[in-house]
Amino acid sequence: MIKIYNTLSRRKEDFVPIEEGKVRMYVCGPTVYNYIHIGNARPMIVFDTVRRYFIYKGYDVNYVSNFTDVDDKIIREANAEGKSAQEIAEFYIAECKKDMEAMNIMPATTNPRATQEIDGMIDMIQTLIEKGDAYVAKDGTVYYRTRSFRDYGKLSHKNIDDLEAGHRDIKVTGDDKEDYLDFVLWKPKKEGEPYWKSPWCDGRPGWHIECSVMSKRYLGDTIDIHAGGEDLIFPHHENEIAQSEAANEVPFAHYWMHNGFLNIDNRKMSKSLGNFLLVREILKRYNADVLRFFMLSAQYRSPLNYSEELMESAKNGLDRIRTAGDRLKDLIANATDMEMTEEEDELLDTTKEYVEKFEAAMDDDFNTADAIAAIFELIKFANTKLDEDSSAGILMKVFEKIEKLMSVLGLEFTIDHDDLDSHVQEMIDKRQQARKEKNFALADQIRCDLLKEGIELMDTREGVKWKKI
Ligand code: AMP
Ligand code: ZN
Repeated sequence: MIKIYNTLSRRKEDFVPIEEGKVRMYVCGPTVYNYIHIGNARPMIVFDTVRRYFIYKGYDVNYVSNFTDVDDKIIREANAEGKSAQEIAEFYIAECKKDMEAMNIMPATTNPRATQEIDGMIDMIQTLIEKGDAYVAKDGTVYYRTRSFRDYGKLSHKNIDDLEAGHRDIKVTGDDKEDYLDFVLWKPKKEGEPYWKSPWCDGRPGWHIECSVMSKRYLGDTIDIHAGGEDLIFPHHENEIAQSEAANEVPFAHYWMHNGFLNIDNRKMSKSLGNFLLVREILKRYNADVLRFFMLSAQYRSPLNYSEELMESAKNGLDRIRTAGDRLKDLIANATDMEMTEEEDELLDTTKEYVEKFEAAMDDDFNTADAIAAIFELIKFANTKLDEDSSAGILMKVFEKIEKLMSVLGLEFTIDHDDLDSHVQEMIDKRQQARKEKNFALADQIRCDLLKEGIELMDTREGVKWKKI
């Protein structure tokens, strides 16, 4: 039985789906006004792994993750670059998808965009007004009447009287706001901003209503899991609950999952603090699977501090697994016996323990750190118990077991030679690019990194050549 830590109850609960064998899951996606940084990559990698584990367990997962493509920051960036907000959003959505693909994140079942869901937002806001949960101010701003929602604060475990208005709300502090806790559902346009027609004014939606509407449209009124980074608990998810539950009169999500933050120098990595590393900067030095392995080496709710040492140790760990994979492949290719012996049958039976450990770790709120430890035990088994005398049968069975568990983590067990060629070529291209940009430190770093992988570069008259050492 899979157990999930539910932010709503603050404890681990058995996962019971709404519909047998199915998971309806919504993950709040990025606001697209820049390339994604590795902090943004954490929820992507973590919840992709959650999704993969559900699939491994036989569930059919409907996975919806949005792009917020209208927002103050996008408009600001558009004005700075002399482009339209739509152009900015389109560009960064495409770039974000490239980074996600590199990190082996499965494409969402649906990737809705806020600007394509405006009608649904107007409908939900209308419903909230009719029910008395929202009101229209003189300038056409529509506010949610926060105190009308009796359970407000249930997710963030805050008492409504102690609350301060959230800093991520769109700030339109018209004097006719009834209460400082009320948040914006719809706001009037300003000069030069994108806008849509509505019964209240030409304008655009607030941030929170987007997710309530997209989740309802693609997954239904009640969903199994709603997820995102822990900074979204308040006010974003709290406000989503208020809107959705007031409008639909049923619980919004049964399980609320939140990943801890990725820190750098023990401070939160964020766009606003300016201390972020872009995914594509990291990819200049490491393969994306190293980043993925690094992220999964911690339990998803714990804070994770980014450091070169941890990235190096992720790289070494992954290399260790792959060296064992290459060895198994060689042994399979050279095995003389096909059939497993009886002793091998018994030996193979002992590996069940490691698979069970892996599953127990993942069942326990997706503890990928312990799941990786179980994979290492299997690797140790393969390295110590299998050799030239093993049959192809057992070698293949063990290979497949490890490969399957690695794929739950979104990682390849082995890289074939074509991949090695293209990996080295990619690094050579990156080094040439760095040299062109006179970034010799990076160029040297890439040479060093390759050396550590056992690849030596040689600058010749015919260009850069390489060999395995
Ligand atoms: P944003 O584009 O800021 O709305 O963020 C998109 C997603 O990334 C949200 O789920 C955030 O909670 C998450 N996120 C942003 N920064 C970090 C970080 N440093 N560590 C972990 N998650 C983050
Ligand atoms: Zn959201």
